[in-house]
Amino acid sequence: KEISTRENNVAKIKVVVRKRPLNKKEISRKEDDVVTVNENALTVHEPKLKVDLTAYVEKHEFCFDAVLDEYVTNDEVYRVTVEPIIPIIFQRTKATCFAYGQTGSGKTFTMQPLPLRAAQDLIRFLHQPVYRSQRFKLWLSFFEIYGGKLFDLLSDRKKLCMREDGRQQVCIVGLQEFEVSDVQIVKEYIERGNAARSTGTTGANEESSRSHAILQLAIKKHPEIKESKRNNDGNESKSGKVVGKISFIDLAGSERGADTTDNDRQTRIEGAEINKSLLALKECIRALDNDQIHIPFRGSKLTEVLRDSFVGNSRTVMISCISPNAGSCEHTLNTLRYADRVK
Ligand code: ADP
Ligand code: MG
Repeated sequence: KEISTRENNVAKIKVVVRKRPLNKKEISRKEDDVVTVNENALTVHEPKLKVDLTAYVEKHEFCFDAVLDEYVTNDEVYRVTVEPIIPIIFQRTKATCFAYGQTGSGKTFTMQPLPLRAAQDLIRFLHQPVYRSQRFKLWLSFFEIYGGKLFDLLSDRKKLCMREDGRQQVCIVGLQEFEVSDVQIVKEYIERGNAARSTGTTGANEESSRSHAILQLAIKKHPEIKESKRNNDGNESKSGKVVGKISFIDLAGSERGADTTDNDRQTRIEGAEINKSLLALKECIRALDNDQIHIPFRGSKLTEVLRDSFVGNSRTVMISCISPNAGSCEHTLNTLRYADRVK
């Protein structure tokens, strides 16, 4: 399949909502599906009680760039969200694709296949004569932000730190990057990284819901021998200059940001950090949308790490994941309001 290289009128910020189907548990509890989708609009039918305890339904309507219902496949999600951005990665674009939503709403289900599909398309581009002759290569890294700290998911959860180089580029010291020229290898790295995500005694989903996982695919221009000797600062020394990149971010569960009054001290600290990062993220995306010169990326570790994706020629796709069941109504409305404010 041919991908057009002329497509550069991709919106700077795109907000997409994805509704998952009711799961077995929700069906067995006979929970209602309270979300109806109509093209790029959706309605949440919130069950409520009057003071005299009679039941009524309050309707909330929202409109987004796209709304994907429970019948939409991951392939279609890719086509709507990431595919249009791929060609412009080669034109110095830094792109970011976020999955936002409460735990259990489908963030990981949605995000996991995207980098592999993107890598497939990027590699196909690399094989085109115009790029082959330019010594472009694809690099992959995968790390996690947990409690405000960075961990490399591809090197035994090694703790990482971040610094800015002289040209205000973020550099994550020690982060392993791997050159990938084959989709099968990309798949292996993704699986390895996913397996290394935070898992505690309380179970995998519980812990990973408190971390942000960040997978980056970068196109770099491989240096010529003499160039690599001259240029030995930070990340760019061996692998070459970044041409463009795309980051896939499976955010912490949005409800975790409210864990700030929990009895457990560690949970409170993590909750505060998540709350801070999700607020900072919203502010940064809004600043981007308004073409503000000052982007408030210093608000959190997450946004600091993404700093170079918030300046220059950037593209942002927010995929807001929602659960359809009546019991999740409050979280669903919170997610939709967040998405609404981003746009
Ligand atoms: P999160 O990462 O937001 O906590 P998950 O991606 O782990 O949520 O999804 C929770 C459960 O729902 C998983 O078992 C997942 O397979 C399932 N699921 C999520 N989205 C869909 C979907 N669109 N279609 C089918 N199953 C889904
Ligand atoms: Mg998850």
